[in-house]
Amino acid sequence: PWEYAPAPESRDIANLKPSYRMFVDGEFVDGGGEPLKSINPATEEVLAEVAGADQSDVDKAVRAARRAFDQSWSTMPGTERAKYLFRIARLIQERGRELAVLETLDNGKPIKESRDSDIPTAAAHFFHHAGWADKLSHAGYGPDPRPLGVAGQVIPWNFPLLMLAWKIAPALACGNTVVLKPAETTPLSALVFAEICQQAGLPPGVVNIVPGAGDIGAALVAHDGVDKVAFTGSTEVGKQIQRTVAGTGKKLTLELGGKAANIVFDDAPLDQAVEGIVNGIFFNQGHVCCAGSRLLVQESIADELLEKLQARVQTLRVGDPLDKNTDVGAINSAEQLAKITELADSGDAEGAQRWTSSCPLPERGFFFSPTVFSDVQQSMRIAREEIFGPVLSVLTFRTPAEAVAKANNTPYGLSAGIWTDKGSRILWAAQQLRAGVVWANTFNRFDPTAPFGGYQESGFGREGGRAGLEAYLDV
Ligand code: NAD
Repeated sequence: PWEYAPAPESRDIANLKPSYRMFVDGEFVDGGGEPLKSINPATEEVLAEVAGADQSDVDKAVRAARRAFDQSWSTMPGTERAKYLFRIARLIQERGRELAVLETLDNGKPIKESRDSDIPTAAAHFFHHAGWADKLSHAGYGPDPRPLGVAGQVIPWNFPLLMLAWKIAPALACGNTVVLKPAETTPLSALVFAEICQQAGLPPGVVNIVPGAGDIGAALVAHDGVDKVAFTGSTEVGKQIQRTVAGTGKKLTLELGGKAANIVFDDAPLDQAVEGIVNGIFFNQGHVCCAGSRLLVQESIADELLEKLQARVQTLRVGDPLDKNTDVGAINSAEQLAKITELADSGDAEGAQRWTSSCPLPERGFFFSPTVFSDVQQSMRIAREEIFGPVLSVLTFRTPAEAVAKANNTPYGLSAGIWTDKGSRILWAAQQLRAGVVWANTFNRFDPTAPFGGYQESGFGREGGRAGLEAYLDV
């Protein structure tokens, strides 16, 4: 074990402040609720104190969003809304280094991921949707597609700024206003985003950020002044929200959990597949709703593939998230670490073979070694439940039909991966798999032009692409 201490200059680059206030009606204000403490999961140190909202703050934010909707945003020509969205996109790029370091401090993800993936993809979402804002009336929705009103949006901690971008960019492009609740463990980048809204001159009330725990998310979802609810998070909370919204006129989209299958056929390019499998499960410590957490490998190549995979996992560097060479960073919270540990232990108890990387872990902080379970049966918890951590379950199959049947044997259906040299097999399997996204000979590729979303208990509605706009429009 080694002692990890983040470089002191990282706090300056992240422009880290001792405390952050919430953002309502264009102003930074104190909250009436319990303040939150944002923790660096790699050191367990408090990074900053963050104002917590109470119910009356939620109410003020929803009222501000309604005023902004009625008085400025929904009636503004699309060409004008586009200018604000382009400005926001450019400001995310300009402040990219600050945001990347802040995201890594707050979330624990490797800096190369926040720098090369989270922040640029968030900017790309604003650029993409800025491009839609002035074209909606020519997009085949009729001459006058209408925004829905005030969107109440609740997001998780795994991609804090990116999930915000997926929610706010399409909402604003279509002329809706927003009240967003970030996750309680990762509120910082959302509050820097609020500064960006001010810098961009966005009219007050168009975007409001109310940090808080689940009760504040619940208050927002239940608020009478909210017309549209968009939630990304666990299936359990998604079901609660569905019950809250039932019987009201509110529109709802849910992006929930997953248990994706990454299927490797015997004709696959194995070295390429190994890279995709590693990326599929260890990217962002496996805190990815569409993580390739079930590896389905054809029996005839299983031994060879597993050997290559173990050798590759052995080379992963686990530790200091601010080190540009780190591949696997910190688990976001003690609670999530406990959840991963408990589920991995169930794999031992149910008879799977555990293999872990020998990379030493830091003494402090929340870390979990990259882990691969072989000899996994479909009935085991590690094959059925979402672990949301760096834990891969390996199952085998003999025929393509068996592969698809096993892949579909889940209540989820967010994503899947296929590795094969045969184009015809890709097309066949992609049609058979019940998953919102199917990647072929790649994994975890995101693009704002491509709709993303689930089947079954992974939720409904799409984010990204033209389909993503429809969640924020009456046509
Ligand atoms: P979570 O459901 O516990 O929390 C998500 C958000 O909901 C947080 O902001 C939380 O404060 C809030 N919340 C909690 N209880 C609430 C309630 N009763 N009403 C309203 N809001 C409430 O999930 P999490 O642990 O933060 O995130 C991990 C989960 O999110 C995983 O299951 C993962 O698969 C899923 N996820 C899905 C996607 C997707 O696009 N499908 C993306 C990322 C994460």
